[in-house]
Amino acid sequence: MKRIIDLHTHTTASDGSSSPEELVRLASSLGLSAVAITDHDNVSGIEEAMQAGDKYGVEIVPGIEISVDFNSGTMHMLGYYIDYRDSTLLEKLAFLQSERDTRNTRIVKKLNELGMKITYDEVKSIADGQVGRPHFAQILQRKGFVKDFNEAFDRFLGKGKPAYAEKGRFNTEDAIGLILNTGGIPVLAHPPYLYISDYMNLKKTISGLKSLGLMGIETYYSTHTQKQTENLVKISNELDLLITGGSDFHGEIKPEIVIGSGIDNNLNIGYTFLERMKEKRSCR
Ligand code: AMP
Ligand code: ZN
Ligand code: FE
Ligand code: FE
Repeated sequence: MKRIIDLHTHTTASDGSSSPEELVRLASSLGLSAVAITDHDNVSGIEEAMQAGDKYGVEIVPGIEISVDFNSGTMHMLGYYIDYRDSTLLEKLAFLQSERDTRNTRIVKKLNELGMKITYDEVKSIADGQVGRPHFAQILQRKGFVKDFNEAFDRFLGKGKPAYAEKGRFNTEDAIGLILNTGGIPVLAHPPYLYISDYMNLKKTISGLKSLGLMGIETYYSTHTQKQTENLVKISNELDLLITGGSDFHGEIKPEIVIGSGIDNNLNIGYTFLERMKEKRSCR
C-alpha cells in the first residue's frame, strides 16, 4: 500500500487550530506515514509533535515556514530538518516574533480607528502564543464585524486593505542561509502565490533562488491547479530540485483543507518524495 505523507501543516504554535499532539493523532488516524510541522516563523510546536509521533507511530519532520520579502510582496520559504534547538535560529526567530508583535499592535490600532472595538488581549486569548492575522479574522467574525473569515481578509486584513500593517522580514538570501546553516533543506512554498504567471519568468526566479541554496519546490499543494503542478514538476526536473508537497493544513481555520488529502482529495503525496529529501540531506 502506498505510504502517504504531508509536508506542510500548521499547529496552535502558529495559526492552526490543532495542538501539535492533536494534529499528529489526526494524521495517525488517517493513516499518514510522515508529517512535517511547518509553523509560521516559529518552532515551538515541534518538540510536542516529535513526542506525539513516537506515541502514535507517525514520522515527524521538523520544519518551519518563514515569510520573506519578495519584490513588492511576500514569499514563503519552507525549511525541513532544521535544528530547532539551534541558538542562532532561535535568536533570529525572536526578531521575527518582536516584529510580529509590533505589527499586531498596529493592526489593533487600525481596526479601532475603523470603528471596530477590539483589544490585543482579546486576540491573544484565542491564540496559543504566536498571534497571526487569522486570529484577528476570527475575532472580527465572532464580534459580527464580518460574516466570515475571508471577508475579514478581503475587507480589512489582506495586503493593501485598511487594517493591513507591514512587519520586518528576512530577505530570500538570509532566510535560505538561515535554513542551510541550521542543517535544513530550503524549499519554496506554493510558488503560484508569487503571482508570476509566465513559465520562463517563474523558472528564472526559482533558478535565482537555487543559486542562493534553494533545494526544492513545493509542487503538490491544496490549491494548485493541475497545470500549475505540471509546470512545477517540469521546473523541478529541469533545475534538479526536490519535489515536495503538502496540504497547508490549518484545522478549523481552513476547514476545507484536510491533512494528507488536501481539498476534495486532491493530494496523494507518496513517501518516496521524503526519501529523496533524506538522500539529498545525507549527501550534504
Ligand atoms: P500573518 O503571518 O499573521 O501575516 O498571517 C498570515 C496567514 O494569514 C497566512 O498563512 C494565511 O493563513 C492567512 N492569510 C493571509 N492572506 C490571506 C487572505 N487574503 N485570505 C485568507 N487568508 C489569508
Ligand atoms: Zn497560516
Ligand atoms: Fe504559506
Ligand atoms: Fe503554510
